Amino acid sequence: MTTTAMRPSARGRTGTVGRSASVRRRLKFQGDLLGTAGTAVVVGSIALWTNGGGIHTMAALGGVATSLGRLTGLVASAMLLLQVLMMARIPWVERVWGQDQLARRHRWIGFGSFNLMIAHIVLITIGYAQAAGVNILGQAWDLVINYPGMLLATAGTVAILLVAFSSMKRARRKLRYESWHLLHLYAYVGVGLALPHQLWTGKDFLSSTFATVFWWTLWAAAAGAILIFRVGLPIVRSLRHRIVVSAVVPESPGVWSVVMTGRRLDRLGLQAGQFCQWRFLSGKGWTRAHPYSVSADPTADRIRITIKVLGDGSAVAPSLPVGTRVVIEGPYGVMTADRRNRRDVLMIGAGIGITPMRALAERIVREEPSEDLGTRRPPQVTVLHRIPNWADGTFAEEFNQLSAWSNLRVVPLVGHRVPGGSFFPGPERVDPVWALTSLVPDVADREVYLCGPRPFMTQVRTTLGAAGVDPANIHAEEFGW
Ligand SMILES: Cc1cc2nc3c(=O)[nH]c(=O)nc-3n(C[C@H](O)[C@H](O)[C@H](O)COP(=O)(O)OP(=O)(O)OC[C@H]3O[C@@H](n4cnc5c(N)ncnc54)[C@H](O)[C@@H]3O)c2cc1C
Repeated sequence: MTTTAMRPSARGRTGTVGRSASVRRRLKFQGDLLGTAGTAVVVGSIALWTNGGGIHTMAALGGVATSLGRLTGLVASAMLLLQVLMMARIPWVERVWGQDQLARRHRWIGFGSFNLMIAHIVLITIGYAQAAGVNILGQAWDLVINYPGMLLATAGTVAILLVAFSSMKRARRKLRYESWHLLHLYAYVGVGLALPHQLWTGKDFLSSTFATVFWWTLWAAAAGAILIFRVGLPIVRSLRHRIVVSAVVPESPGVWSVVMTGRRLDRLGLQAGQFCQWRFLSGKGWTRAHPYSVSADPTADRIRITIKVLGDGSAVAPSLPVGTRVVIEGPYGVMTADRRNRRDVLMIGAGIGITPMRALAERIVREEPSEDLGTRRPPQVTVLHRIPNWADGTFAEEFNQLSAWSNLRVVPLVGHRVPGGSFFPGPERVDPVWALTSLVPDVADREVYLCGPRPFMTQVRTTLGAAGVDPANIHAEEFGW
């Protein structure tokens, strides 16, 4: 069903292709800056260990193990706090790296800090046992029971162990999102419980004024970022913009659009192609936020999202009363028009992964023709929509209306998936590169936007690579966790 009035003259926008080069340069610079800051924190913790006598104390009995144990503990702490900062949803960090990249880095740093934490526990126990001339198990017991803050740190370690095990691929596959998410919150408990033992027994924390300032700043930054960006900002924004549901509209089987209005929504900085975490204050279920992409180019007083009913959270969509208050966290996501390098665009979406494409297509075809690449013509936009049945062609009518006056072409790829087959429907052995380049011969010269479940995205990326698309020109959002 059509929910957006679309006229060619509705809103002209200046072309973004020329601007995107500077946007990319700026983001690259900011990304490098963030990477350097993170590395500096880790290097700083090592420097403080050296400065606090880390190498010197190795000469004592059990000194090598104890000193290396201190080093691994410090680096593990620094990495744990960096992780907290990375997942604090700091808008600037989100804009530079996006959640996909942040989650990948978070995973990498997470397992690194976990391994170092285990090394810390083992090495310190061995070192203390050697120094005292007692057995390792007795020393471990003594450390936990008699050293200040160590009982709390042990509880924290158990919490972090739970998080690490539940993050392993095998365990993740077996867990529901809710259970995994709840377990993941234990990481905050784990990090918090580790603080007292650093304060009370960690020599390096207090070895110099500089060390104390360094560690307290890191702790305060991590705690402050969580409170400000995950709690404060969403509350302030939701109160300020007063977003409420204004209509709920059926789109296709099991798919509903939720249209919302509010005050000065343009100040949210939300762009077509992005998503937010949404909570509808209509009763049960509001405690759990859900990510949904905007499915129409947002305006100063209107936002639309489109929801496929899958489980308990999305099931509330069809019956949301008009006037329901909405709490919003975001915007997030890096699949925006201003990041593109090329004027012409290919969008590939699977199933409900068409939502950000619908908004982006509207945004891009409304750009004013610009001189960006030497010629003055509007962008060519091709959308490939992978769906199992024709009835699942969400937004087919709206796409038709947009195509009527623009260079937009929408190609539904209809058919059920064949296990081991390509993402193109049809005979099992269809060559996806041939199929793609037959449909979009200039694919290598286009910017590509991609959205859907992980296996689909992996397959499409491989095909795009084989068709000559530069990975830097692919922007993707995965509808998963
Ligand atoms: C960046 C992003 C943008 C999305 N945009 C849209 C959209 O525009 N329209 C739409 O219909 N769906 C979108 N989704 C998927 C949507 O968030 C889930 O379908 C929804 O949260 C399911 O919740 P549920 O309780 O109804 O179902 P459940 O039965 O709890 O889950 C159904 C599926 O959704 C996954 N899921 C559940 N909660 C989350 C979560 N918080 N984050 C990520 N995955 C989750 C589960 O792993 C499961 O595979 C998006 C997901 C992401 C990550």
